[in-house]
Amino acid sequence: MVEAVVGANWGDEGKGKITDTLAEKADYIVRFQGGANAGHTIVNQYGKFALHTLPSGCFYQHTTSVIGNGVALNIPVLCKEVQTLIERGVPAPKLAVSDRAQIVMSYHILLDACEEERLGGRSFGSTKSGIAPFYSDKFAKIGFQVSELFDEETLQEKAQRVCELKNALLVHLYHKEPLKPEDILEELHTYRDMIAPYVCDTSTMLQKAIDEGKTVLLEGQLGTLKDPDHGIYPMVTSSSTLAGYGAVGAGIPPYEIKKVIVVCKAYSSAVGAGEFVSEIFGEEADELRRRGGDGGEYGATTGRPRRMGWFDCVASRYGCRLQGATDVAFTVLDVLGYLDEIPVCVGYDVDGEITTDFPTTAKLAKAKPVYEVLPGWKCDIRGIKKYEELPENCRNYIEFVEKHIGFPITMVSNGPGRDDIIYR
Ligand code: GDP
Repeated sequence: MVEAVVGANWGDEGKGKITDTLAEKADYIVRFQGGANAGHTIVNQYGKFALHTLPSGCFYQHTTSVIGNGVALNIPVLCKEVQTLIERGVPAPKLAVSDRAQIVMSYHILLDACEEERLGGRSFGSTKSGIAPFYSDKFAKIGFQVSELFDEETLQEKAQRVCELKNALLVHLYHKEPLKPEDILEELHTYRDMIAPYVCDTSTMLQKAIDEGKTVLLEGQLGTLKDPDHGIYPMVTSSSTLAGYGAVGAGIPPYEIKKVIVVCKAYSSAVGAGEFVSEIFGEEADELRRRGGDGGEYGATTGRPRRMGWFDCVASRYGCRLQGATDVAFTVLDVLGYLDEIPVCVGYDVDGEITTDFPTTAKLAKAKPVYEVLPGWKCDIRGIKKYEELPENCRNYIEFVEKHIGFPITMVSNGPGRDDIIYR
């Protein structure tokens, strides 16, 4: 049985917490796309962790953490993460890294930073983790696959080829020092020695697990609106954030994904630039940011303050549909307990026409939010375990959102901890 945990919106919906909660009953937790550019925040008995590469189930001893072929693999970041876990008293995770995953190189990170600097005010707000140059190289067929680390001849030939290409950019466009093939080779040798103990054919491993009736969780990074095809292009990430891609990025048949749990946060937040129709500003936004998440809405990787907004039914309905939601996990609901009234965006006004369909970017830029205002519940709902025990206005808020997005909310998260979850 394969289940996917993915985001409906701009990311930071609380996927890490939901995966960590569901991982209790899972055998394999798989990252299938993205890299170390986003963080999942997890709170459990070992403390609070920001994971960038390891899947969120890595705290359980019964699970195997899998880095799928679709991931942008930053080997030093992954190894440091494993080390940090061990240092903080977590048992060493069982880790399997796909021999088909490709490697984020130091020059990807360098090129990412150079391009952001060149763009200046027109930049994409990249986390400078090398993700866009990495995926560009993968599809230009000049990336390094993990399997190639063990083939010295290929490494030498490719290091040469990469230098020729990258140095044209580095020297002439960015006015930086050229790369040397011997340095690239040395970097690759270091990575080979670091990653060797974990490398295997994860696709075959997962197929075997599926055949044996094991539970496999696919953990997505970011959300629908950051998908390169279906998101707010060009302010998107460089790999598909959709559950459908989970099959590709993990190397399993698409029909094995039986459950798609789409994580939706009870209000909106986004990092980086890009269209965000229900965004709010000033003191109203500051207060929600301060109270949001677990200790404020600040990026887990960069510490950047997140942009804040009210819940957007148009974006979330679209986000859930593209993911193919079978279940919605509605998170961080406890944070809204301070509000007298809660606006919810139920439509977009584009040039005087109201729509509930999520448009392409140029139209989206003109969209104004149409709000309905719901009464707040004015109390702390943390610690409540049963749906019926939630205050009436809180249940009304959940049911209002459910009606507008058109997918069943089967889980409500009312705190950052593993057990702060209400099943419906
Ligand atoms: P992810 O990237 O989707 O995993 O999301 P993040 O980890 O970046 O952001 C979610 C934040 O909200 C983290 O700080 C979580 O600890 C926190 N969080 C998750 N679920 C809840 C919840 O139900 N209530 C509260 N208060 N915080 C939550």
